[in-house]
Amino acid sequence: MLRLYPAKCKGCRACEMACSFRHSGRTSFQPSISSTKIVRDNDTGHITIELDETCDLCQGEEPPLCVKYCVYGARGFA
Ligand code: SF4
Ligand code: SF4
Repeated sequence: MLRLYPAKCKGCRACEMACSFRHSGRTSFQPSISSTKIVRDNDTGHITIELDETCDLCQGEEPPLCVKYCVYGARGFA
């Protein structure tokens, strides 16, 4: 199970890049095809981590790429 900890998220969007790398067949970085999106409210600074149904929990990867490249501990896998 993918666990999300939005309070730790800094909005770096490395997770979007990592996820799109996976979905592109490891050929490119395209945030538009990422299963996860980082949304920042520019008025309040509040960050929301979104996850859609295209997430397959990175089957075949250990750990999932978005967890591996989130250096702030805002994602976990258990
Ligand atoms: S990689 Fe982690 S800290 Fe960076 S935007 Fe994604 S969840 Fe937030
Ligand atoms: S677990 Fe894999 S497919 Fe799901 S959001 Fe993270 S990188 Fe994308």
